[in-house]
Amino acid sequence: MQEKGTISIHTENIFPIIKKFLYSDHEIFLRELVSNAVDATQKIKRLATLGQYAGELGDLTVEVSFDEKKKTITISDKGLGMTAEEIKKYINQIAFSGATEFVEKFKDAKDANEIIGKFGLGFYSAFMVAKNVEIHTLSYQEGSEPAIWTCDGSTEFEIKKGKKKSRGTDIILHVNEDSVEFLDKWKLQGILDKYCKFLPIPIKFGTKSESVEDGVDDKGEKKWKSVEVDNILNTTAPIWTKSPSDLQDEDYLAFYKSLYPMSEDPLFWIHLNVDYPFNLTGVLYFPKVKNDFELQRNKIKLFSRQVFITDEVKDIVPEFLMLLHGVIDSPDIPLNVSRSFLQADGNVKKINNYITKKVADKLSELFKKDRKAYEAKWNDIGLFVKYGMISEEKFYEKGKEFTLLKNTKEEYFTLDEYREKVLPTQTDKSEQLVYLYSTDLKKQDSFIDSALKKEYDVLVLDSPIDNHFIQHIESKLEKTQLKRVDSDVVEKLIQKDSTYANLLTEDQSKSVKELFEKAIANKTYTVDIEGLSPEEMPVTITMEEWMRRMKDMAQTGGGPMSFYGSLPDSYKVAINGNHPLVDKILKAENEESQVKLAKQAFDLALLSQGLLTGKDLTAFVKRSVELI
Ligand code: ADP
Ligand code: MG
Repeated sequence: MQEKGTISIHTENIFPIIKKFLYSDHEIFLRELVSNAVDATQKIKRLATLGQYAGELGDLTVEVSFDEKKKTITISDKGLGMTAEEIKKYINQIAFSGATEFVEKFKDAKDANEIIGKFGLGFYSAFMVAKNVEIHTLSYQEGSEPAIWTCDGSTEFEIKKGKKKSRGTDIILHVNEDSVEFLDKWKLQGILDKYCKFLPIPIKFGTKSESVEDGVDDKGEKKWKSVEVDNILNTTAPIWTKSPSDLQDEDYLAFYKSLYPMSEDPLFWIHLNVDYPFNLTGVLYFPKVKNDFELQRNKIKLFSRQVFITDEVKDIVPEFLMLLHGVIDSPDIPLNVSRSFLQADGNVKKINNYITKKVADKLSELFKKDRKAYEAKWNDIGLFVKYGMISEEKFYEKGKEFTLLKNTKEEYFTLDEYREKVLPTQTDKSEQLVYLYSTDLKKQDSFIDSALKKEYDVLVLDSPIDNHFIQHIESKLEKTQLKRVDSDVVEKLIQKDSTYANLLTEDQSKSVKELFEKAIANKTYTVDIEGLSPEEMPVTITMEEWMRRMKDMAQTGGGPMSFYGSLPDSYKVAINGNHPLVDKILKAENEESQVKLAKQAFDLALLSQGLLTGKDLTAFVKRSVELI
């Protein structure tokens, strides 16, 4: 009795604290109680296997039911049950001593969540929704007496002799006024579907008849009727618990469809299975990635021994794999702890590394086994690989072997292959290798055309992540620079010794420059006269590689980069001094027609790059008609 007295002094305030801090989400009371029922059932099965229980196991289904009229929710199992002594030991003492410690520590804890997870308060989560809880139980042990425990959420509890005739435990919750929302078929069904769908013991919802409202009688009083509902809601052996050798592709695809009914088939999957130095199973799927990344994040479900925990797997799964789908199950991930705690956890770090390695191995295997098939999937896979290369050094080391670069002819190269390919043609006079790329085949068509004419190769890097990817590989590859194909005129993209001389005299160059400046009449365009091949366009508009990249980064990244986003666009206009049109402009009869021709040539350049719109476009069309 003294013990009881001591405990109650310390634990007077435990329930308000549990209610407030233990779990943000009240619905998990059901997860805790059903898991306990499943645990008790697995224990009796194990005892039977070990020959320590000789009785009939019988039907072991766990049943969840509710009674709207009596305002109760009942969780029944046919597990090993408890004697009155065991209730005292497992329910009162352990939980209460845990709680005492909890209250002690809580006094100065900064983050209550950091210590909550360390105590086995699972059962007590019942008091988040119940004002009164009853345990009716009969132990499997021969000659046991049934027992009833009741508690109203204070530290007072009562144990008396019970009437239960069959082995197992019924937990009856008398739902409090604030939680009547849980006395609803769909609500409970939803919670069970979320947390209990893959529990290893069959779960039935609503076997016992339910009283449901049935209109009103003559006096205006509510009428009630009983309905029978009876359905098993879980899959007791989901695929991640099985051995990969027992599974076919169809099984993986069917499981994927059951998790994400509306999704397209995944590209491929990885079956995770380790038990040392930590325990982890699961299946991760590579989905077809759509443009809306946010919608596709947080699709991985985290389980602990088949009990659903959360779909917030940040920190457990590497950031670059957050777009993956599927399931991971590990009892070694601490639950109910804060993020900072999770990040520091040794197992979590190991799990993170393991997943990264498995993904890299799988990609490498796919690449080696069937390169053509891998190339065909590259558009979708590429996003993961590039993201991984940028964000994890370890992954870069592996990923550089199976990262592909695609060119405008839809040919694929590994990083090494590509280097070999362009080395002879795209090395500039200072021994720098220049990779050219396009972010928009249509808009940059004329530039691509010029580059290809020069026997250069042009890569296609047009996905949202490519901005960052370009920056990253540039920092990794030796003496290599990446330039967007429209960042300069073709002669200057890759500077070689032999360039065309500008055939114009200095005076001629000066007046051509002035004529164009007059025609363009916009200070954000800088005009230069260049000596290019006469075959090249008379006018080319470019934005410097560096400036454009900064602006692109500002758009996707924000932060300190956003400064660049606020700068006005500044373009360079290169006039090809060797083009016959320039000669024609110089020879035109008066300044007015010179400017008109210059304007026309400039607008044509804008037009070919998709930069001519609205009023300018209309004026251009009018002028063109006049000129014809
Ligand atoms: P945990 O499940 O982490 O041990 P809980 O607070 O959920 O913590 O449960 C405390 C203990 O009470 C369990 O370890 C178990 O011994 C006992 N218990 C709870 N529910 C049942 C049940 N349905 N049948 C038998 N024993 C139970
Ligand atoms: Mg428990």
